[in-house]
Amino acid sequence: AIPLVIARSTALSARHGLLIKNRTDFENSRKITTLVFDKTGTLTVGKFEVSRLRVIDGSFTENDLVRIAAAVEGSSEHPIATGIMEKSKSMGVSLPAAAEVTAITGKGIKGKVEGKEVLIVSPAYIAEQFPQVDINNNIQPGETVVYVVADQKVAGYIALADQVRPESAGAITALKKMDIKTVLLTGDNKVVGESVSRSLGMDGYIAEVLPHQKLEKIQQLQSQGEFVAMTGDGINDAPALAQADVGIAIGSGSDVAAASAGIVLVNSNPEDVVSLIQFGKATYRKMI
Ligand code: ADP
Ligand code: MG
Repeated sequence: AIPLVIARSTALSARHGLLIKNRTDFENSRKITTLVFDKTGTLTVGKFEVSRLRVIDGSFTENDLVRIAAAVEGSSEHPIATGIMEKSKSMGVSLPAAAEVTAITGKGIKGKVEGKEVLIVSPAYIAEQFPQVDINNNIQPGETVVYVVADQKVAGYIALADQVRPESAGAITALKKMDIKTVLLTGDNKVVGESVSRSLGMDGYIAEVLPHQKLEKIQQLQSQGEFVAMTGDGINDAPALAQADVGIAIGSGSDVAAASAGIVLVNSNPEDVVSLIQFGKATYRKMI
């Protein structure tokens, strides 16, 4: 039978937006010393809107950038893809077909459009493959930037803006008061990682991380003696969610993230991690 205090707190948890899938994660929540947050879709809404378009190679137009990028992104569910698709609709661009579309894990996506090999990729990828492009000059604080490459020519870039969730600042402030360290972990660029973590008053950030590096970062913190919780929404967060001492998925996120986590924030509100820790403490205090 379920002890009464646990049955009661489970009902209370539901009222506070918590779905407790794994009791051990709930029990462990009172021991958290470091809370790692994914950025896109976790501390931010995860809804990107195109804010700027820039042509780099004069043989392309802004219209071309959107047209070839949207053709490839049509088969992606990434929030960047959704933002670019919306832009192509509002510009009334008609999209050519794309073939052989594949993801470049943590770095972008590629496919064949109008006979050209097209890549939509991160600034980090451009820095590696096209070092002549000044990526730092092209990013403004708070922006996510993706480059459009066609047949090995850097055609230009698309800047997108996301919104920090209104509840994120409250969550970080409350965790600080509980002496819990907060770290931002994102596959996005360093400029946006820095600006989001700084605006929320977090203890640190790590940007441009690949999914396996998110997992490794959790392991590293654990080996330093930290009791680590991870909060994330994406497929790319799933290995880190499974590795963390407490895995917390955002309800609006991917099914893969929810399956890898012990707790789900059903209202997608990062402030509910604070309730989780408070409930964990109250529940297990009563049992002793
Ligand atoms: P996050 O931690 O922000 O969820 P991801 O691992 O999903 O990051 O993506 C990391 C980066 O890879 C993105 O910021 C972007 O530069 C690039 N990327 C991933 N998927 C796509 C896509 N469908 N189109 C363009 N760029 C992408
Ligand atoms: Mg995310």
